Amino acid sequence: MKNLILYIKKRFFIVNALLLIAVLFSFSFLYSCGMNIFSEEDDVKMGKEIDDEIKAHPREYPMLQGHQEIKDYVSSMGKYILNVSPKIEYKKTFPYNFQVINDTIVNAFCTPGGYIYVYTGLMKFVDNEATLAGIVGHEIAHAERRHMTQRLTSYYGVSLAMSIVLGNNPNQVAEIVANLFTGLGFLANSRSDEEEADDYSIKYLATSRYYPGAITFFFDKISEEQRRRGEAPGGLDRLLSTHPLPQDRIDNVKDKLKKLGKTFDPTKGLYTEEYQQIKSKLP
Ligand SMILES: [Zn+2]
Repeated sequence: MKNLILYIKKRFFIVNALLLIAVLFSFSFLYSCGMNIFSEEDDVKMGKEIDDEIKAHPREYPMLQGHQEIKDYVSSMGKYILNVSPKIEYKKTFPYNFQVINDTIVNAFCTPGGYIYVYTGLMKFVDNEATLAGIVGHEIAHAERRHMTQRLTSYYGVSLAMSIVLGNNPNQVAEIVANLFTGLGFLANSRSDEEEADDYSIKYLATSRYYPGAITFFFDKISEEQRRRGEAPGGLDRLLSTHPLPQDRIDNVKDKLKKLGKTFDPTKGLYTEEYQQIKSKLP
């Protein structure tokens, strides 16, 4: 009897050890393939929790108050892009929504599950509707390609994977969100994520009323400002810290645009006048 128990214990240990090795092996292998240990439901849950945190931190994230016309404008632009592009897969799975933060920061960001935030600083910086649409398309792509939970997968790595496999921390998602807000901050986007988001933004806008390459006007304007002032303009620091901006990105967009196999006129589909009207109403 004692031998039997010992045998079972030993077997159990071997099975566990083999499982551990298999898990470690498959995770290290899958890292290189853009692996994501989170489910799509985790993305939605995480996005909602981050949104709650954002609303609970009005000093860091002053949501635009009043100005319904501006909020509606950004929201309907986002929804229009979702509707017009057949390439957006999660439009029914993710609770996509588009909100405005009233701050001079020239940036936009996105959480998992499609909560997208646009700063009024960005809206003032760009010159036409198509450029803003290009940036909104880029943020949609971060959600669609699930970049953040992919980055979290490689950041937390095997320890998180193991605790999920062993089921010993059901509140893992909430804990990760809390960490994002305390120590870690939002993890910087990798250059390959950025290029991918640019590529998808062009694809999404290719079937829209907007010139799909307008995001390059944004890059060009940043470069121009940098040249003029010899440094990044105020409010752009945060953008540049989470969005690396090498010349390659501009070249990449131009290259991808050519590959769409259709010629686009960069002087059409910009909606400059309409945009200037909205811009003049910004607080
Ligand atoms: Zn980005």
